[in-house]
Amino acid sequence: MRLLNLNQYDDRQLFYRSKEWRTLRHIKIGSQPLCEYCLKKDILKPATECHHIIDISDVPTIENALNYDNLMSLCKECHSRITAQKKRPVWSPFNLKEFISKNSLTT
Ligand SMILES: [Zn+2]
Repeated sequence: MRLLNLNQYDDRQLFYRSKEWRTLRHIKIGSQPLCEYCLKKDILKPATECHHIIDISDVPTIENALNYDNLMSLCKECHSRITAQKKRPVWSPFNLKEFISKNSLTT
């Protein structure tokens, strides 16, 4: 992987498409297939998403981005909720579209 500047939105998108990330994500969800957040509330729900506990835009290093211990398996609802609690992002046509599709604002 070339050196990515994870401060940059475009490079973060490249990161999420990288083989390294997709492999790590697969391993994480494979070893913890239940939503870790729901599990704390004794709810068993399949995890479909892999969350960075320390956000890669906060610590934009590849070491942080690919740190297995920085990952949490989450269901879509928990991931959306946690992401929404973070500070409001700067909207672009790309992340706005992603936000709308993730949060099912359209039918
Ligand atoms: Zn959950």
